[in-house]
Amino acid sequence: MTAGIKLRVLNFHGIGTPGRPLDPGEGDYWISADRFRSVLDRIADHPQRDCLSLTFDDGNLSDLSIAAPELERRGLGARFFVLTGRIGRSGSLGRGDIGSLIDGGMCIGSHGVAHRDWAGVSHGELQEELNQSKAVLEDICGEPVRSAAIPFGRYNAGVLAALRAAGYKEAYSSDGGVMDTTAFVRPRTSIRRDTTDEKVDRILAGHLAPARLLRRTVAMSVKRWF
Ligand SMILES: [Zn+2]
Repeated sequence: MTAGIKLRVLNFHGIGTPGRPLDPGEGDYWISADRFRSVLDRIADHPQRDCLSLTFDDGNLSDLSIAAPELERRGLGARFFVLTGRIGRSGSLGRGDIGSLIDGGMCIGSHGVAHRDWAGVSHGELQEELNQSKAVLEDICGEPVRSAAIPFGRYNAGVLAALRAAGYKEAYSSDGGVMDTTAFVRPRTSIRRDTTDEKVDRILAGHLAPARLLRRTVAMSVKRWF
C-alpha cells in the first residue's frame, strides 16, 4: 500500500463559555477564546502549515460563533464533527448553523447521535449512532457525509467494521501522533485546557515521545483486532 502524506491533526472541543451543562470531565477540553486565538496563530504561522489539519468535536455553538470567523481570518479550513442528537439545543449548532459552516467552506462529519461510547453499546445502538447521524447530516448538507469522529476515542474491530459498513471512508480517533492521508483510522491530538505552548509545538511537529509512540502503536493495533 502506498503511504499518503503525513498530517498532524489537532482536535478542539468547546471554546469560550459553554451554553449548556457540561458532561463530567468535559470542562478539561474547553479552552478560552484568547487561548484558541493564540493556538491558531501558532498553526497559521507554522512552517509546515500545509501538513496541519484541524477538527472540532461535539457540534458546540462556539464552532460557528468563535472558531469559524477566526479560522477564516487566517485562511484555515477545518472539519466539524456534529452530534446530531444535540442539533438545535441550547449551546449547540442548529441546522442553519451547520449550513453556514458549509457555506463558509468548512467540512462536516458525524460524531454520532448521543455521545455514546461506540465500543460499549449494543449492535443496534451502534447502527443507530452511525446510520441515523449520517442520514440527518446528509439531509442538512445536501451531500454525502463520509467521515466520522469516534466519541472518547474508544473503538475496536467491531466499531471499525460497522463504520465501514455504514459507508464512512475515514474514522478520526484520539490516538495522537501523525495521520496518514490514505489510512481509514486517523489519529488526532486534542488541545485541552492544560495543553501548554510547548506541548502544542510538539504536536505541530508531529513529535511523540518514544514511550508514548510505543503505547500508541500497541493500543492502535489492539483496538483494530479486538
Ligand atoms: Zn465528543
